[in-house]
Amino acid sequence: MCEAWRRFPIWEGVAPEEWVDWRWQLENAICDVEHLGRALPLSPEEREEISRVLLRYPMRITPYYLSLIEDPQDPSDPVRLQVVPRAGELEEPGEEDPLDEGRDSPVPGLTHRYPDRVLLVTTAFCPTFCRHCTRKRIWGCWEESDPEEWFRYIKAHPEVRDVLVSGGSPLSLPIERLEDILKRLWEIPHVEVIRIGTREPATLPQRLFDPELLEVLDRYSRKLWAIAQFNHPREVTPEARDAVWNLLRLGIPVQNQTVLLKGVNDSLPVMRELMRRLLAAKVRPYYLLHGDPVRGAMHFRTGLARGIEIVEGLRGHISGLGVPCYMVDLPFGAGKVPVGPNYLVAMGEKAAVFRNYEGLLVAYPLDGERGEEEGGEGVSGLLSRGGALVPKGTSRLLRRGRA
Ligand SMILES: *Cc1c(COP(=O)(O)O)cnc(C)c1O
Repeated sequence: MCEAWRRFPIWEGVAPEEWVDWRWQLENAICDVEHLGRALPLSPEEREEISRVLLRYPMRITPYYLSLIEDPQDPSDPVRLQVVPRAGELEEPGEEDPLDEGRDSPVPGLTHRYPDRVLLVTTAFCPTFCRHCTRKRIWGCWEESDPEEWFRYIKAHPEVRDVLVSGGSPLSLPIERLEDILKRLWEIPHVEVIRIGTREPATLPQRLFDPELLEVLDRYSRKLWAIAQFNHPREVTPEARDAVWNLLRLGIPVQNQTVLLKGVNDSLPVMRELMRRLLAAKVRPYYLLHGDPVRGAMHFRTGLARGIEIVEGLRGHISGLGVPCYMVDLPFGAGKVPVGPNYLVAMGEKAAVFRNYEGLLVAYPLDGERGEEEGGEGVSGLLSRGGALVPKGTSRLLRRGRA
């Protein structure tokens, strides 16, 4: 361990055994402006701005996560932007519950939207409150729901094969409560998959160093999957990799959902680096989520075009394993749909025309016979006569010696 936290005067004297202790991290989490000001230089305007936001939304940042900030002087650091409050949170547009999770809840805390899976919001607590959180509405005003009702509902619905245990972070529940939820779900025969959704591998990886927690997860690991949220390559630290490895060793696959965030990761080089680092950590990029129109998080949203452009620069260019599916979650509880660049350029009776990541256009014959028809130039010609339109000088064609 390189003890990088010692760069921050406030934690200079912290011993390694304290730093790696998740309890120490929780106890020393930053929740007020005065504490934050001792960790990061804040201008009087920033102090005032943060204080105003805190009247509406709470703040919580683990020392570990804050220590991922590279330059404490830089207000637009991508780690800082995710956790330090900004005035944009007080803007009025957006909705409290844009995905209508509440209206698809047959019992409190359970959302049943898709045919075979349900979502459980088990707690509002999280070791680090991300400013872009899609469930900001429940911070600090969450009503405890009754787990017995969840189990009763799931038992009565044999079509439910997959249960997403989310929050907040379920790993922050008291260990007996977490174990009870996992055990009760485990005992329902038609529940084949239990997913734990948590950002802790990124914000408090030390939680996954706790042998007691790992023992509990181990008991139910045959049904368990983990869904993490890494948003920036800098979050994939040696500690995060160890946390992931501790899950993988139990046979729990680790998938990742990245949220597309303005100023944080809305650039192709950052995303390429993130996806590559995730693969190197054996985390499978699952979704790239377009920012939901959440009140208090509108300042993080990008246009859809940004996400499509990023996926364009990933697909074909890096391992397919490292390319997440870009998803938009629709209003009215319509759910998630994939969006992406189109590779099918044209479609005729005899052929389809595709393009590839290099910009090469190629006819894909559909009925075996090659057409001789006039089709003119370009795509129309490819549809009728077949063949390909080859861009000059891509490195693959240079390797073939035909550029
Ligand atoms: C995203 C989501 C799921 C899981 O969807 P997958 O596409 O299977 O990952 C389930 N329920 C709700 C309410 C969701 O928002």
